Amino acid sequence: MDKPVLMIVVPCYNEEEVLPETAKRLSEKLSFLMKNETISGQSRVLFVDDGSKDRTWEIICGLHQQNPIFSGAKLSRNRGHQNALLCGLMTAKALCDVAISMDADLQDDIDAVDEMLEKYKEGAEIVYGVRSSRQTDTAFKRATAQGFYRFMERMGVDIVYNHADYRLMSKRALNALSEYREVNLFLRGIVPLIGFRTATVEYERGERFAGESKYPLKKMLAFAFDGITSFSVRPIRLITVLGILILCLSALCGVYDLIALIFSIPFSFGLLGLSVWFCCGLQLAALGLVGEYVGKIYGEVKARPRYHLETLLHTGEDESPR
Ligand code: UDP
Ligand code: MG
Repeated sequence: MDKPVLMIVVPCYNEEEVLPETAKRLSEKLSFLMKNETISGQSRVLFVDDGSKDRTWEIICGLHQQNPIFSGAKLSRNRGHQNALLCGLMTAKALCDVAISMDADLQDDIDAVDEMLEKYKEGAEIVYGVRSSRQTDTAFKRATAQGFYRFMERMGVDIVYNHADYRLMSKRALNALSEYREVNLFLRGIVPLIGFRTATVEYERGERFAGESKYPLKKMLAFAFDGITSFSVRPIRLITVLGILILCLSALCGVYDLIALIFSIPFSFGLLGLSVWFCCGLQLAALGLVGEYVGKIYGEVKARPRYHLETLLHTGEDESPR
């Protein structure tokens, strides 16, 4: 295989404090990989400015002028981490053979890049960076993050445990990703849907070396909610099940009341209470049923690709195998 052109995609939002150091470390990494002939000399670091309010874009422009290894892309306004990342990946798709996405604060150990590239050379199209431990996170962040993964799993969203957005994607995987047209973007849920050969690489996650998190609790909750509602109709199904359960229970109690009336047993559930519960159950079940249809529409509206072709065996008219 020829030396692949690598593009490291880094979304940045108000990252003036970390960018100079990040740029230094990433250019060292790339130069090292170019020198030992792992990647092509055309490889680049692509900084995506997600509508920052500070000097982030000026710094990116400066870096690009100083060293052609740095490329920059600027979004028209702040669109959030996932959109900025997608913009970076889609830009990279045309310019590279393989892209690696990572955060600007370098909390993800950049030495894992070497191993990711090794897995790529062994044939993996997607390599997930997975945190081996969360020792550097605060207890709160650790607990909420772990709860997040468990909850997502329960809700039927297929995501890789302890994997954030540090991953390698080949050009083919990027092309497949470009076929997903959803607006509510949750890349961690979409990428596993793509398929192809995948691998994982473990690394230790460090602390942010400067600046503060751009993901406060509020954004994190919104992100989790987006993840669930963009991937699963299970919440709707829960309503249906709850409604049917209440409906059945109150019907059973009604039957008991009838028997109690016939045999003059003193205890009964009371007509008013029961009818309230019955109607409540009926409404929930009906709502859930409507939800099931909305769920179907939601699947259709997303118009996700139904397959990605991995290999095509074909002999053309001239009988030469391809
Ligand atoms: N980020 C972004 N747009 C936003 C918020 C964050 O591009 O609206 C970027 C940010 O610059 C960083 C990455 O997303 O490169 C992850 O953010 P952060 O490190 O603050 O999140 P945490 O590690 O605390 O979860
Ligand atoms: Mg971070």
